[in-house]
Amino acid sequence: MAITRRGLLKGAAAGLLAKPAVGQGPAVVTRRRFKAWISRGDGRGRTTLQEATLRPISGRQVVVRTQATNLCYSNVGAVLGVQPNVAGGGTPPVSALAAPPGTRRMNDMAVIQGHGGIGIVEAVGPEVRRVRVGDQVCVSGTPQCGSCYHCLRGRSDMCQFLSAIGADDLTAIADLSDGTPVYENSHIGGLAELMVTFEEWVVPLFTKAEIVDLGMVCSCVSVAGLGATASQGLATIAPGATVAVVGCGPLGLSAVQGARIAGASKIIAIDPIRARREVALKVGATDALDPNVEKDNLIQRVRGLSSWPTDRLWSGGRNPGGRRPGAGADFVVEAAGADQVPPKLEAGPDPTGILPMQQAYQMCALGGHIITTSLVRGNITLPGNLFSIGGVTHHGGQAGGMSPMRDIPRFVRMLESKQYDSKTLATTVVSLDGMLEAYEQVAYRTTVTAIMTI
Ligand SMILES: [Zn+2]
Ligand SMILES: [Zn+2]
Repeated sequence: MAITRRGLLKGAAAGLLAKPAVGQGPAVVTRRRFKAWISRGDGRGRTTLQEATLRPISGRQVVVRTQATNLCYSNVGAVLGVQPNVAGGGTPPVSALAAPPGTRRMNDMAVIQGHGGIGIVEAVGPEVRRVRVGDQVCVSGTPQCGSCYHCLRGRSDMCQFLSAIGADDLTAIADLSDGTPVYENSHIGGLAELMVTFEEWVVPLFTKAEIVDLGMVCSCVSVAGLGATASQGLATIAPGATVAVVGCGPLGLSAVQGARIAGASKIIAIDPIRARREVALKVGATDALDPNVEKDNLIQRVRGLSSWPTDRLWSGGRNPGGRRPGAGADFVVEAAGADQVPPKLEAGPDPTGILPMQQAYQMCALGGHIITTSLVRGNITLPGNLFSIGGVTHHGGQAGGMSPMRDIPRFVRMLESKQYDSKTLATTVVSLDGMLEAYEQVAYRTTVTAIMTI
């Protein structure tokens, strides 16, 4: 057979594509038994440590042996079985983004809660290409398929795979000894020795970073804070800019760090809890404000701190006062959110999270940017004309608008280069057995955040 250029190219292409095109061999998963925190029923005590037996996997499923997972505050209600703290806040309105009511009730199902984590791939379905057995991966809170409508438009934080996480959408991944099927929150879980997920949710990591540090930077809250500030997914923080961060939980504290990494010259951290303000100052904030002390003066204080060296308008100045003040933060990251239970440390001014969000909007400079990340309880009212013609650009998004496959590996590089400080944020580290106790600390805000390692 004659050797032709076309034939050579065809051969090369076939070689290149052969492996990924056919995927990997079928997974060999025996009926592996593993420990998992199973949530079921209503009220306190709904989450117990049990043994489950893994079901065989198929297609794009990936089995990950958990190394570390973050105990996320937004999961408090489901794990501890506590009612949301609605005192003074009324009942939550039905969200357009909430999972539709299904034929079965999530609380009646045996569900492993959690928002993903990091671990080692133990098995893959035959269609999986992104990761291999033995890879260390992040099971991301936000999937990225790369081919849905939103992924194709650069908004993988809105990946359509995330739209099917209601009770009727979940796939059983294991069984309890009495035959009860076991499901996972959002197809990812985390509070167990194993996570079984789909390829869309995993990001391979190539790093030698220590497990707690890596678990912290890859947690849903850290990637959201870094996403909002250092991924350039929603807004690009200009070097030298003034950034205000409203709410300094692990998400806000990651946003403080992201603002520092992005080159902000002033970073104003706002939180009612003294310990959190101190952590904020340690990881990069230049100023820290207590909303309980500042009260109605909070917005003026942020404007004062973001004032310019000159108010001479012919000289590039910003006039802080007047009907159209030149002052205000160039970028505001809102990361406060509603209380799920009344905190045991300093409570903020509004348990619904609405007031901090309104204040965040109003402390933004005219023409500036606000990035909202938190879950509030209720509807937001804003001054209409400020909203309409104030020039403030609002960026809302999942996980700070980050793109998992593009950004999580970059965030890991930020950890390795010591730009991102995981250690100061991971104030509680527990084993699988200590999970529930640590979740109480997270719920009552007596720790910044907790990482469970296995
Ligand atoms: Zn989370
Ligand atoms: Zn997608």
